Amino acid sequence: MAITSFLPPRRILMGPGPSDISPQVLQALSRPTVGHLDPLFITMMDEVKSLLQYAFQTKNSFTIALSAPGSAGMEACFVNLVEPGDKVIVCRNGVFGERMRENVLRCGGEVVVVDDEWGAPVSVDKVEQTLKAHPDAKALAFVHAETSTGALSDAQALGALAKRFGMLSIVDAVTSLGGVPLLVDEWQLDAVYSGSQKCLSCVPGLSPLTFSDAAIAKISSRKTPIQSWFLDQTLVLAYWSGEGRRSYHHTAPVNSLYALHESLLMLQQEGLENAWERHQTMHQKLKVGLENLGFEFVVDEAYRLPQLNAVYLPQGVNDGAVRQHLLKTYNLEIGAGLGGLAGKAWRIGLMGYAAREENVALCLSALEASLNTSK
Ligand SMILES: *Cc1c(COP(=O)(O)O)cnc(C)c1O
Repeated sequence: MAITSFLPPRRILMGPGPSDISPQVLQALSRPTVGHLDPLFITMMDEVKSLLQYAFQTKNSFTIALSAPGSAGMEACFVNLVEPGDKVIVCRNGVFGERMRENVLRCGGEVVVVDDEWGAPVSVDKVEQTLKAHPDAKALAFVHAETSTGALSDAQALGALAKRFGMLSIVDAVTSLGGVPLLVDEWQLDAVYSGSQKCLSCVPGLSPLTFSDAAIAKISSRKTPIQSWFLDQTLVLAYWSGEGRRSYHHTAPVNSLYALHESLLMLQQEGLENAWERHQTMHQKLKVGLENLGFEFVVDEAYRLPQLNAVYLPQGVNDGAVRQHLLKTYNLEIGAGLGGLAGKAWRIGLMGYAAREENVALCLSALEASLNTSK
């Protein structure tokens, strides 16, 4: 059969990411491509930087969008900040903490893991005990919003602990940025990375990244070269920083950056606090509906992420069949359980543009109808 153009349906994306993208952002994506060193493009990149500083609530001059997905943002933090022999404390309460541990090992670092149950937040007390026992550690790494379970950890308390012990903090804010409060400067966080396709509701493939002066100082004082050429941020710095110093490092994903510019602009126009509140309001509505349908949440109310609702599957429900029915009949995607929760839970995302009244209503009515048909 002859291959023809790919024409995807318009799905409603309520999983763990990518999330629904607004028509406004999709439109920005299709604007004419200009050269990545075109003066107009460079002006737009300056705006992306200041919009990202707003989203992260930071004045860090090193605030960029890495040309790669969130996983590369994670890797960029570790390869730049961890030298062979460095001890790093890694908090693990889900899939992404485990990936951080693997990153440290691949950088030749020594890992001390602080484990918490899946669905629980990182225990600040346990971390404090661990930092006391390992004052020689160079960094503390943790996930702010664990997308595999829907648990929110106290990034402010953890950031303060790292500072008290003279360590850098490395923070995964892939799912938190734009969805829940994240105050990079006020909380004294050092290396924070995110992703374009979660609460920013942009196309996948970009990773917002910010480094504090302390993180930059660590990079500048390294004794060993950074093993990754592409992720070596000292090489990228020249592109993003100095006026008139934009030189070629790699070809920026021009159109994706138009889309990020547009989605960050939408966030700024809405206002961060309003965006956080919208996620919370939509979560409350979804929560009431889900509980009426008999669902139970994986995470305690006090630590629950509004943008990622992990709920246990009701007894006797066929995981794959229901999700497929939702996709086929309603064009609705919800997320399967990941890792330890595979087959046991669903993850319903309310991220960015997806955190809307009509999505909540559709999700609840589609679930109700689909659960009944599957019985
Ligand atoms: C999605 C996600 C990542 C990975 O981002 P990709 O863009 O898929 O590479 C990392 N950490 C968390 C918490 C995530 O939710």
